[in-house]
Amino acid sequence: MEARIVVLPGDGIGPEVVAAALAVLPAVAARYGHTFETEEHLIGGGAIDACGTALPDETRRACLQADAVLLGAVGGPQWDDPAAPVRPEQGLLAIRQAMGLFANLRPVRPHPDLLAASPLRPERLQGVDLLVVRELTGGIYFGTPRERRTVNGEIQAVDTLVYSQSEIRRVSHVAFQAARQRRGKVTSVDKANVLESSRLWRQTVNEVAAEYPGVVLEHVLVDAAAMHLLTRPASFDVIVTENMFGDILTDEASVLAGSMGNLPSASLGETRNRHGFPRGLYEPIHGSAPDIAGRGIANPIGTILSLALLLRHSLGLEGEARAVEAAVAQTLAAGYRTADLAANGQKPLNTQEIEAVIVSHLG
Ligand code: NAD
Repeated sequence: MEARIVVLPGDGIGPEVVAAALAVLPAVAARYGHTFETEEHLIGGGAIDACGTALPDETRRACLQADAVLLGAVGGPQWDDPAAPVRPEQGLLAIRQAMGLFANLRPVRPHPDLLAASPLRPERLQGVDLLVVRELTGGIYFGTPRERRTVNGEIQAVDTLVYSQSEIRRVSHVAFQAARQRRGKVTSVDKANVLESSRLWRQTVNEVAAEYPGVVLEHVLVDAAAMHLLTRPASFDVIVTENMFGDILTDEASVLAGSMGNLPSASLGETRNRHGFPRGLYEPIHGSAPDIAGRGIANPIGTILSLALLLRHSLGLEGEARAVEAAVAQTLAAGYRTADLAANGQKPLNTQEIEAVIVSHLG
């Protein structure tokens, strides 16, 4: 296989964790006889500094022509001024929209040796293996009007939560198809007791469910789902939900895995690359971690596992994806830890050191 991967390191620890993932790529290429071409482009704060926009046209074009995109993270305090005309996160929203990435997949499967790193009791975490499918291009983050206005002499702000049935339907299909490959259960999360958009969500998910007779569907209100994620996380298989609920629940679910640094994500849409697979965007779920940026201690596992998802979903390389996941699992099983995972008294490895151990398992 010959594949062209666009790499967007971004800001803060983004370049550090992406460099670690790019060190894994040649090991996979050599072991399986593939050619991976990579091409770096600007996004986020670095792009604002260089070009005045969070998503330069050149980056957008390159992403739309690539087989897949690997992203680090964007953002940082130097671009946080609320009055700034352009913000790093706009680059993320814009690339998701440009690539039509409507489904964000976040698998959470805590490594057995890391159960103690989670604030939850280890027995609660036994058997946790869930996948959150979050709608990514609709809902309140994109609805209009979105504005400030003055009413009766007072400033008001308004955001709009809008979903059309086609948006709900296509992300529901992603969830049901994933459930068919897994344990056959979908939990749809909404707020149907209050929100009209959630009532349409529930109705539409029910309609899609009729096409998947082998999959069990349950509906859970978002407030209850937030609680069940902590009290009975192992009961979930696939969770499907709208954009903002998914944003919040996926961060909560990340706690189950011990550190945000461990968790990957895949964003998929309808467009296909030249190999016939979805042209996805892959990124760790964490942000740019300005508090540790530049110190070389970031945990690169979430980015390396994102690369595994890229191999699986955008290149159809299941064996290669599993090999990368196994290399990470073996590294953790052997007791190697970055600072965010290390127990008291344990000497942590830095980013490059853990990258080297993971690469050694792919040799
Ligand atoms: P964050 O995820 O960057 O960091 C939260 C905490 O987790 C920090 O203490 C950080 O040091 C730690 N952490 C995160 N990733 C880690 C890793 N790989 N290894 C070790 N520790 C890690 O969230 P935040 O601090 O709320 O946000 C920082 C910046 O990142 C903000 O500008 C925010 O807007 C941006 N952000 C970007 C994305 C993205 O690019 N997708 C997502 C979330 C936040």
